[in-house]
Amino acid sequence: MKKRKTQAITAMILITVLLTGCGQGAASRPPAQTQTPEQAAEGQEETAAEDTAPASQETEAQEADAGEGDTAMTAAEEAEIAKKAAGGHPWINSQAKENIYEGMPLSPKDDFHLYVNYDYMMRRKKGEKYDASKNVLLQEVKEILEDSVANNHVEEIVQDYYKAYTDWDARNAAGLEPLRPVVEDIRGISSLDELSAFLKDPDRSGSVPQMLRFMKYYDEEDPTRYVPSLYFRGFGELSLMDPHQYENPDEDVRLQIEAQKKVIIHDLTALGWSEEDAGKAYDDFYAVEAALAPTLDSLMDVMQGKEIPSATSDISEIQEWMQAYPISDILSSRGSTATAYFHQNEAYMKAVGDFYKEENLELLKNYHMVSFLKNYDRYCDEETFLLADQAFYAAEPDRYERDEDYAAVFGQMVLDMGDALTQAYIGRHDMSKERQEMLDFFEEIRAVYRGMLEKEDWLSDATREKAIEKLNGMKLYALYPDHFKDFSGLDFAGKSMVEIRMALDRFNEQMEIKQSTEEIVPDIYAFEQMPTLADNAKSLPMINAFMFSIGITKSSGYSSDMSMEEMYGIIGYVLAHEMSHCFDENGSKIDKDGKMNDWWTAEDKEEFEARLQKLIDYYDNITVFEGVNVQGKVISAEATADITGVQAIMELAKTKEGFDYDKFFRTYAEAHAFYSSYKRDLSILGDDSHPLDYLRTNVVVQQFDEFMETYDVKEGDGMYLAPEDRITIW
Ligand SMILES: [Zn+2]
Repeated sequence: MKKRKTQAITAMILITVLLTGCGQGAASRPPAQTQTPEQAAEGQEETAAEDTAPASQETEAQEADAGEGDTAMTAAEEAEIAKKAAGGHPWINSQAKENIYEGMPLSPKDDFHLYVNYDYMMRRKKGEKYDASKNVLLQEVKEILEDSVANNHVEEIVQDYYKAYTDWDARNAAGLEPLRPVVEDIRGISSLDELSAFLKDPDRSGSVPQMLRFMKYYDEEDPTRYVPSLYFRGFGELSLMDPHQYENPDEDVRLQIEAQKKVIIHDLTALGWSEEDAGKAYDDFYAVEAALAPTLDSLMDVMQGKEIPSATSDISEIQEWMQAYPISDILSSRGSTATAYFHQNEAYMKAVGDFYKEENLELLKNYHMVSFLKNYDRYCDEETFLLADQAFYAAEPDRYERDEDYAAVFGQMVLDMGDALTQAYIGRHDMSKERQEMLDFFEEIRAVYRGMLEKEDWLSDATREKAIEKLNGMKLYALYPDHFKDFSGLDFAGKSMVEIRMALDRFNEQMEIKQSTEEIVPDIYAFEQMPTLADNAKSLPMINAFMFSIGITKSSGYSSDMSMEEMYGIIGYVLAHEMSHCFDENGSKIDKDGKMNDWWTAEDKEEFEARLQKLIDYYDNITVFEGVNVQGKVISAEATADITGVQAIMELAKTKEGFDYDKFFRTYAEAHAFYSSYKRDLSILGDDSHPLDYLRTNVVVQQFDEFMETYDVKEGDGMYLAPEDRITIW
């Protein structure tokens, strides 16, 4: 086995991959099929982070986050929560609905986030809902999906997908029958050898989630190439969100398990099973997950900086670890010719090997069967779809709202075939002018950033030179790629919804295998890391770049005749935020070519870390709710990017005559309006790499003289921060 010294970078990549999209995911439901880590990231993002989209154009993800699920509480419980919720310091958590009431005192000097977003919070509290028909991007995509004319092959496939999805008559008539052949096939297996034969025959098990999945990965030693890798079923792939939840499931998790079991019982009884056998199938499935979960890393541990060992191993060695599990044959049957694989979970692979025994045959059969059902049952009839869709909200059923079909398809397609949907969209909506404007704006911010680095008096010339070199090489991938994936091999004509899903899964697997031996095409890579129709942006340290999405451009209501201050408060801030990630605690470890390379002098590094520590200490001292503080270490990279991003905008503003600071700060605060709850915010602290939105407003703006001057903030005011206490990283 060839061990590499890549622990730190791997943990970092995982964090990047999983969590540092800088906006919210576009899908409003978790995808039912197995996910890539990137997709898992969006699932996570969706419940955890809400980053850059302005309040006036919220997405459904945001709506779903509103936390309206507490109706069953007693008055005493409610009073207790209200008391705890109001215990924030130096500000109350003003995005928590419990803290908002009629007639609150409002002042920009004391609590800027509350001052700007009070009306928004009151409107939401009075029940104003998100209206999907106002989402311009969704409406434009809907027109393409529902058009009777297809101008090219990608339009054909996205329309065929949509037609099959919305053909409820056909779906209802088929019921769960499309899933029967695979279920019966697995049921008939009577020995471990037969199970192995099934797993290594793609015609039989091509749609069944495997215990290890092939995926392409970027080569940490040569960022221009992909390498074949094996992905453990971890974050987002287990039926519970995090492996540690299996140890000691709390009430919410138990409700989720119960709801999932109910769906599987429904599925299997519809296929003629007894309720008892169906229930046992789910229990077996869960038992296998629970047995393997301890070998998977907890998301929480990774967020706290736990390093995940990685290695590249020969397939013969991996096969030895996995004993009878036919990993080598499974991979070659799917077309992989690799002789070695990058991987991050040796312990898991060994645990699968230990578990894959004749005595566990029934458990293993049911594990694969239930995994398969969970992947596809939501594409069957309406009753099954609804049951599966609602299961995700088992702990907070009031939050469940069924999407319009076009919105559901949009969310699903963005994750599964976002590139095809983008091609179709770009084909009908010329965004070249907007793209050029983003690129020009990026250059303007880059110039300011260069000036900031040149002025840094704590940097030695040697480090400064490297930093500027990195800045000069940085690339923005704006809105859409120049190269699109080739979808000519994918044809959905005449297929049912379940068949389309299966064909798509196979196609994506084949694409991964093919790409894994190829060179990285940077713009395809960039838009693969974050679908551009999602409301998000993403730092891409491995190629010294970041992407900025069509989703944000549309949701922010971007137009060329936006005022400068609005433009800076929405688009400019996001661009500068993403640029700053290249110089945060993670980005600063990677050089201009995307290689893990410490380009700092020891002295400069020490100063950088001292500055970072000051930031961490500052956030650690912020109380969100009574007895609950921010965990500075978890949010430090995002907080750095926020503060440095606004700092760059402040520098840019200095060059603009008559810049309206009040308008800028308001726009910035409005962009962080977010309607949340005590329960929701409590649950994401420690899991989400982004600070809560009210802190993204208040802590950031109070770092700047321009803010203090605009609102005449003085010592004793809630927003006041003495110059010597301010946090500056750059
Ligand atoms: Zn970010």
